[in-house]
Parts: sequence; C-alpha cells; structure tokens
Amino acid sequence: MAELFYDADADLSIIQGRKVAVIGYGSQGHAHALSLRDSGVDVRVGLHEGSKSKAKAEEQGLRVVTPAEAAAEADVIMILVPDPIQAQVYEESVKDNLKDGDALFFGHGFNIRFGFIKPPAGVDVCMVAPKGPGHLVRRQYEEGRGVPCIAAVEQDASGNAFALALSYAKGIGGTRAGVIKTTFTEETETDLFGEQAVLCGGTSALVKAGFETLVEAGYQPEIAYFECLHELKLIVDLMYEGGLEKMRWSVSETAEWGDYVTGPRIITDATKAEMKKVLAEIQDGTFAKNWMDEYHGGLKKYDDYKEQDSEHLLETTGKQLRKLMSWVNEETM
Ligand code: NDP
Ligand code: MG
Ligand code: MG
Repeated sequence: MAELFYDADADLSIIQGRKVAVIGYGSQGHAHALSLRDSGVDVRVGLHEGSKSKAKAEEQGLRVVTPAEAAAEADVIMILVPDPIQAQVYEESVKDNLKDGDALFFGHGFNIRFGFIKPPAGVDVCMVAPKGPGHLVRRQYEEGRGVPCIAAVEQDASGNAFALALSYAKGIGGTRAGVIKTTFTEETETDLFGEQAVLCGGTSALVKAGFETLVEAGYQPEIAYFECLHELKLIVDLMYEGGLEKMRWSVSETAEWGDYVTGPRIITDATKAEMKKVLAEIQDGTFAKNWMDEYHGGLKKYDDYKEQDSEHLLETTGKQLRKLMSWVNEETM
C-alpha cells in the first residue's frame, strides 16, 4: 500500500527557513508561488525576458527576477517551466547557480528520469507534484483545503530531502489532502502511460472511432457527436465520484449489460498487448527521445496532427453544436 503523509507529518518551518525560487508562473507556478508566500515562505519568481506572466506575478505582490537571479538567491529552486524547455533553462540559468546544500525541485519527473537534466551530487533533488491543475491547487489552498500531491526524492544529498519535500507540499496545501510517496521513475512512467494510453490518446481515438462508425453507417453527425463525445463527460463524472460501480448504478440496466459484453470486444487482448508495447517504449526512453527530437526539430508532425484533427468532422460538428449549449464554456481555451 502507498505511504500517505498529512499535515501532522510535515514541518512547515523547514521550508519557511529556506529561500525558494519558483521558475515559471503558469498553471503550477502561480499556485506554488502564491500559496508558499501565503504560508510564510520567502519566495521569488524567476521569469525570462518578455514573459507574458510577469505583470500578473507582480500585480499579485510577488517579486520577479530573471531565472538566473532567482536561482542564485534561492536555496530551493522549483522548476515549473514547460517540460521540453526545462533542460535549456537549467543549462542557461540554474546549473551555475547551484551550490552544495541547495535543493532542486520539479513538478514532474520527465527531465530527471530521462537524463535531460543531470544535477550535481551535492544538491537534493525532489518532486512535489499536485494531482490537479494549478488553478485548482491555488483555489483549494485559498479555501483552506488542498489538492493531493505525490512527492519523491531522486537524490538525498542532505539526508533530509523527503522532509523538505513534505514541508514544501504543506506550504501549497498538499498535506491537508494527503501526500503519497513515489519515485521519479514511477511518477514519470505512469504519467506518460496514463495520458497516452487512457486519458488523452486512448480516449481521443475511442471517441473518433465511435463517431466515424456511426457517421459511416449513415447516422447524422450531430447525433453521433452527442452519443460519442458529449455524453462522455456525464459518464466520467460518475466514475470520478464513485468508480465504475457508481457509473453502472446510474446508467440503465441495458447500458450496464452492454458495458459488460461489448467493452471487452472493443478493448481486446490485442489492445492490451499494444499498451504493454507503449509502456515499454516509455520505460526504455524511446518515447521521450522521439518527443524531444520532434519538439526541437520544429514540431512539424505535431502541427500536422493538430491540423488534421481540427478539420475532422467530429470537431467541426462539435463547434456548431456547442453554440446551442450556452452552459458549455470554451472561453478558457
Ligand atoms: P505552463 O505552460 O502553464 O507555464 C509555463 C511558465 O513558464 C509560464 O509562466 C511561462 O512564462 C514560463 N516560461 C516559459 N519559458 C520560460 C523561460 N525560458 N524561463 C522562465 N520561465 C519561462 O506550465 P505548467 O504549469 O503546465 O507546467 C509546469 C510543470 O508542472 C511541468 O513540469 C508540468 O509537467 C508540471 N505539472 C503541470 C500540471 C498542470 O496542471 N499544468 C500538473 C502537474 C504537474 P510566459 O507564459 O509568461 O512566457
Ligand atoms: Mg503529463
Ligand atoms: Mg445513450
């Protein structure tokens, strides 16, 4: 069973005794910086020249300096810039400002797990990753609650790295909800697998294939859209609240019977065998290497995929239909 840690297990004074740099002020960065500050921690934000988020951070009362200045001033440096550019930001701004005894923090293990960032031996390397989007992390903190976090130590130079990570998690409200101990390897591999096989990749492909099957059989795209995409939210909300059991309790007996007999015909042993291959390519670094090559090669295939799907009948149908539903909000895109 997983090891869980709560407020009583974490000592906030550890992080209050350090100087923290939060590099990046996006989804996670703003939540970490503001909540740490409100927890009595000495925080500065590191942002690049021309950053769009700089004005917002300053408006919200934070001191903004360059990433290099932030890393030099601080002894706990949390890297919250997008994963594909972390190695570059580390090389340019962080590496030469690390001293023995400092701690390098991450919100996701990608760059450490696949060796794109190789910190020196004298620093603690920790992860505190909230299991929710940054805006929820901040809102929960402000409401006196928290989003569960997972925490890990890759390198324990000080001998106290996990206590430091728990203290940081407490500063953003994570221990109010609970912190689960993991490793950089487990977090990174499961995160990539989940988003590829199930959450994003698997779901998008399932929705598209279902939609295409109905439309190719002559049904109206609008009806197919409702059946294969729109209603998915209602089903997922039920799963989120009470697992498969609550979803099956809520749908009709006919739907539940169809779930049992048809689900395994759609996701077959062959699908699972392919999932195992996907996992193996994550574990051996093939996925990470290909993705970094694509990213730094100018995102050509990425842009092609994006364009192809934006022209898919599923998407053009959805755009029209969502206009009929005033409560469906596309503004945040
Ligand atoms: P965002 O894309 O939301 O934010 C990125 C931030 O980095 C922006 O403030 C951007 O500034 C800034 N930035 C870009 N380039 C630089 C640079 N060269 N130097 C300094 N700052 C720069 O990132 P996320 O919050 O989504 O992700 C951050 C980390 O958190 C990642 O490791 C991610 O995997 C992890 N994570 C994210 C979750 C989420 O909810 N999104 C959930 C859990 C983990 P500007 O826009 O002003 O240019
Ligand atoms: Mg991810
Ligand atoms: Mg139905």
